[in-house]
Amino acid sequence: MGLETMERTVYLNGKFLPESQANISIFDRGFLFADAVYEVTSVLQSKLIDNLGHFHRLERSCRELNLTLPLSYQELTDIQHTLIEKNQLHEGGIYLQLTRGDEGDRDFTYHDGVPPTIVLFTQERNLVNSPKAKKGIKVISYADMRWRRRDIKTTNLLPACMAKHAAHAAGADDVWLIENGYVTEGGSNNAYIVTQDDKIVTRPLSNDILHGITRASLMKLAQEFDIEIEERHFTIDEAYAAKEAFISSATTFVWPVVAIDDKPIGDGQPGLIALKLREIYINAALAAAE
Ligand code: PLP
Repeated sequence: MGLETMERTVYLNGKFLPESQANISIFDRGFLFADAVYEVTSVLQSKLIDNLGHFHRLERSCRELNLTLPLSYQELTDIQHTLIEKNQLHEGGIYLQLTRGDEGDRDFTYHDGVPPTIVLFTQERNLVNSPKAKKGIKVISYADMRWRRRDIKTTNLLPACMAKHAAHAAGADDVWLIENGYVTEGGSNNAYIVTQDDKIVTRPLSNDILHGITRASLMKLAQEFDIEIEERHFTIDEAYAAKEAFISSATTFVWPVVAIDDKPIGDGQPGLIALKLREIYINAALAAAE
């Protein structure tokens, strides 16, 4: 049996199991209320990329929601490395989800002391040579209908699913979400434009957007490489007129955006600054990979 047809080994509450044997309760609050947080760490050359940043954000998400994080960083990386080895993962990602667990019935209120449910599984993906990284993606603008704490990485992802479904139906790859006339972020990524005088613009951190770990790394690298980034709000009209546009996330790193609402950005080809940042990011991420 080839590896593609073999079951993955996944992690559930202290155990490594074949995926078909990893079951959780119908009363799990992650299932009933999306009372859960998650993280995705990418894997290159069987190593973890930006993993400590993802762990710190997970700690913060847990703190904000009064969830118990039952793992230290060392315990987490041990689990992740075991999954990489058991599934022979060379390139892709590791998904982690932590829920408030199962109190044996459905009740909006919750009690402290219930053991959380924790799940990790691997996903094989072509990250470095992804065709979308070379060709760029098309996005449509779409109303941001999410809740007011987008800085917490919860599994409350229905608005993102609806938005991405609409994008695909319109022949695009993703959305740029709009609130009060300004772009907040992408469907599952942070959004950037490059002005005609080569300044990168991205929305400042607040509760309105997820504080991307890839975004944080890009900010640092841009400073090192003397690339100017301005953190400010920008409108979709400013984006239409930009020289370049791009997105960042753990699973894309940097992908150029070549069209917004069917309007070509710049010359309609992937932008040079986006491609440069992508290259810088991948090199730095590999050098620091765990
Ligand atoms: N914004 C949203 C809404 C996301 O879902 C994600 C990633 O899933 C990001 C931004 C990018 O964050 P990161 O770079 O940590 O993957």
